[in-house]
Amino acid sequence: MTTQQIVLSARPKGLPVSDDFRMAQIDLPELKPGEILLKGMYYSVDPYMRGRMNDAKSYVAPFEIDQPLNGGVIAEVVESKSDQFKSGDVVIGHFPWQKEFIATEKEAKKVDTDLASPSHYLGVLGMTGLTAYFGLMHIGKPKAGETVVVSGAAGAVGIVVGQIAKLQGCHVVGIAGSDEKTKLLKTDFGFDEAINYKTTADMNKAIAAACPKGVDVYFDNVGGEISDAVIKNIAFHARIPLCGQIALYNSTEVPMGPRLQPILLTRSVLMQGFIIGNFQEKFPEGIQQLAQWVKEGKLKTTETIEQGFENLPKALLGLFKGENTGKMIVEA
Ligand code: NDP
Repeated sequence: MTTQQIVLSARPKGLPVSDDFRMAQIDLPELKPGEILLKGMYYSVDPYMRGRMNDAKSYVAPFEIDQPLNGGVIAEVVESKSDQFKSGDVVIGHFPWQKEFIATEKEAKKVDTDLASPSHYLGVLGMTGLTAYFGLMHIGKPKAGETVVVSGAAGAVGIVVGQIAKLQGCHVVGIAGSDEKTKLLKTDFGFDEAINYKTTADMNKAIAAACPKGVDVYFDNVGGEISDAVIKNIAFHARIPLCGQIALYNSTEVPMGPRLQPILLTRSVLMQGFIIGNFQEKFPEGIQQLAQWVKEGKLKTTETIEQGFENLPKALLGLFKGENTGKMIVEA
């Protein structure tokens, strides 16, 4: 059987371009005992994939040139040589950007499609939902009445962070890149205030106005100048879960900014970076809580679903242009 895959054809300089990716055709071998043949249904695109396009040491290995990219995928079992899976089962795993692929039974985990739509397992009930939950609850530790600011607020992680912070009784301020997004955060997702960083000339002033008592928790998804402005407004004993730095992922030079340590020091602020894998042992607790909030209607979900396997690179690049609201997913 032949199938198609999307490979990394070149390492990008700055913002990736479509020529950095290439479609390739490959033959799949026969299934061996314990293996399953899968057909991709939903593919996750995530900002961290940009880092994997560089040849640099990090917490996850770089993508290889002429090899398929890979990430979170929801797939259907087409053929099974495992007694744990049957054809028609829907599974999640870390799989290649390939239309069909073979996995061992250890690499795939069944998902319950009666409980939630399959794509939710890549978003609110998956990696990004868990990132929001653990980053906010275990590092941010919000208390009722406190002010929580989240950047990248209309994205997959941010939109969940804001809603969980509201469930904790906080005053919640989101920062996002369009009027459409800031309006949606307030009307549909319960944010108290939302700031469009692309049209706000003085972010420092806008954050001060939205957070009159200062910022007790800053959930940082973006870094750069947005975070510089939030940190200027940070409250005493604030917590900063350092989740992402998307504003810097395409930098070609070492980004420079104001020295923030004096503020952190004099206001006794805790800033802690984290990778969601740090919380792996607690995932069942997080999934259960997120699923319960979704079921009770307390946590709303939204996704941007791009159609067509061949559009995976376009969807990935779209993350850096703010083309998504909620989780960005590609339906094959
Ligand atoms: P998103 O769904 O938020 O997509 C990215 C969003 O970032 C875009 O929609 C865009 O929205 C915004 N953005 C893009 N470029 C810039 C920029 N230069 N400055 C400010 N905002 C920008 O992605 P996720 O929710 O999946 O991820 C959010 C962050 O969390 C990322 O930095 C990611 O790397 C990180 N992350 C970290 C994890 C961890 O384990 N630590 C796990 C998962 C994600 P807009 O229109 O508002 O500009």
